[in-house]
Amino acid sequence: MNKKTLTAALKNLPLGRLRYYEKIGSTNDMALSWGNEGERDFSIVIANEQLTGRGRNGRIWQTPPDSALAFSLLLIPNIREEKNISLFTGLGALALVDTLRQHYALDAKIKWPNDVLVNGEKLAGILVEANWQGDKIKNIVLGMGVNVYKNSVPNNVLFPATSLEELKPDKFSKPIRSLLLSQILESFAKRRPSLERGDLHNAWDKNLAFKGTQVQIHARDGQVIQEGKILGVNQDGSLRLDTHPAIYFGDVHLRPIKV
Ligand code: ATP
Repeated sequence: MNKKTLTAALKNLPLGRLRYYEKIGSTNDMALSWGNEGERDFSIVIANEQLTGRGRNGRIWQTPPDSALAFSLLLIPNIREEKNISLFTGLGALALVDTLRQHYALDAKIKWPNDVLVNGEKLAGILVEANWQGDKIKNIVLGMGVNVYKNSVPNNVLFPATSLEELKPDKFSKPIRSLLLSQILESFAKRRPSLERGDLHNAWDKNLAFKGTQVQIHARDGQVIQEGKILGVNQDGSLRLDTHPAIYFGDVHLRPIKV
């Protein structure tokens, strides 16, 4: 993967500008500072390696060199999208789920709120952040890390992880990251109007992991704050349990209860 192969692979997409880095701290940090300068909608920062990639609340997202797809989209929401800001995480996850199903026959699911799983193992994570101007959102940064090759999977993780190469060795043992990125971005552009319409939660709901099963919602310190059966995703992206109408993102983690 390099700027030339990426530019060629992405040439038919309605992208803003593109920045490629061999090595970076975090693509989200770069896109956030780029957004502060005022960039074009659907611009993208891509890196071959992240030194300080982040998950939620400053947790580390590992991106060793030559291993993964790590990118951040800079998005300028229109007025209707602004009303549905909490759904951008679901939009990113669905773009990946659509791509994996359509092009690679992989049945991916979304572990609420921000992870994509295949066979119950974490393949990708999404982190949405924003630049604010007073109390108004100036732009959104949607970061995604996808484990492509085997060497992207960290040893010590709290939740079991996998890579595309482990899932489909024939397709993913060769250079494929530029193509995969173009497919994800195409799916993203196709799905984006449903966020504006306000019906994206229906697709998110259909692709939810652990639906109908008993889960625990943990706080950061591991304390269980809710327990119940997952019923679905509400229109605002919050999670509905049979014991609680709406769990919001915050710093909570979902864990299936094995019965
Ligand atoms: P959890 O996975 O515990 O439910 P989370 O969804 O909030 O929490 P994130 O904050 O999105 O997780 O991601 C950070 C966590 O993901 C890290 O704490 C680490 O355990 C795990 N992780 C880091 N890098 C990777 C990777 N490349 N692949 C899979 N998991 C990773």
